[in-house]
Amino acid sequence: MLKKISVNKISEMAAQLMKKGLLLAPVKEASGHNFAEISDPQQIDLDFYNTKVSPKSVFLPQKEDFIRYETAKPVAEAQLVALEPRQTFLFGVRPCDVKSFGIMDIHFNASGIIDPYWKKRREATVIFGYAFDLDTPAEPADFYQTLGIGAADPEGSDIFMVKKGDDLLLGGVTPKGEKLLTELEMLNEGKAADKKYFEEYIKKGREHKTRTMPLDAEAITGKLEELFHNTDFWTMISDACISCGVCTFVCPTCYCFDICDDTLFGQGVRRRVWDACMFTDFTLEASGHNPRTNVYQRLRQKICHKYSFHVRKYGVISCVGCGRCTKYCPVNIDIYSIIEDAMKA
Ligand code: SF4
Ligand code: SF4
Repeated sequence: MLKKISVNKISEMAAQLMKKGLLLAPVKEASGHNFAEISDPQQIDLDFYNTKVSPKSVFLPQKEDFIRYETAKPVAEAQLVALEPRQTFLFGVRPCDVKSFGIMDIHFNASGIIDPYWKKRREATVIFGYAFDLDTPAEPADFYQTLGIGAADPEGSDIFMVKKGDDLLLGGVTPKGEKLLTELEMLNEGKAADKKYFEEYIKKGREHKTRTMPLDAEAITGKLEELFHNTDFWTMISDACISCGVCTFVCPTCYCFDICDDTLFGQGVRRRVWDACMFTDFTLEASGHNPRTNVYQRLRQKICHKYSFHVRKYGVISCVGCGRCTKYCPVNIDIYSIIEDAMKA
């Protein structure tokens, strides 16, 4: 099913989505675009390249309370924080970020361990993927093409959107997406010419150039295993790293978290908060021992986890080439160059 709407009428569609549930879409902030809850349809700004922070927080919030309790009362009286997510519409997600949800599902919604918080939010959400503008060159940090992802890949979205002049084409990808398209009365039927344009755009998206190198998952996995004890290599690439953790917080496929208890005046809350393997105390043990005291060990962990351990365990590289870690690293450490150097070492 293909529908369309004039770009200047998107606010009408947004208003209807807001009546149905929570609408999250790119908005322009002082330092760039990010996904935010829309309270006024005019806030939506589709004139963006990609958001600064990935949309992973829609399913894995940076901070989430699980249990509330009173320290003086028995454990049995602790209260679980109920989670009944509202119907959610996640609007304008780029194909590489959509791909990241499938990788994160391996950890939160498969492999025998189901995270109910992630699962419920995933089920309650309709994803509107949004093709990159093929007339705009990819940003220098991006390399999603290396990971086999096209600039207009619809896979993983429920509805996929392509801009065509002053129109926005919306293609149904899943039954959930198709159903929603039939409910949005302001949409017009796509014509045969629109369908042709939509299909050709998806094909052209595969040719859209980002940084590209030939990358075989098995080969890079083996190479990193070989290099694991090469301290000179890891020291050289991590020399400038200041362990700030920015690369992990903006990354759509980093999912490390900590569970901590916060108590004040007898009131307690157990919550999950994002953590990062790049932080110095991430592996600090209760005994005081820390197996990763050196920065090279932490950067090695991040790279090897994504490009080696993850492949061995789950069969896929845990990176979608969105380029955020490179773009926002304060000292310009570039994961693409590290992989390139590792392949040549
Ligand atoms: S490691 Fe970097 S390029 Fe890969 S998904 Fe994470 S932020 Fe994007
Ligand atoms: S963003 Fe750069 S400096 Fe900060 S932890 Fe990551 S690699 Fe190190």
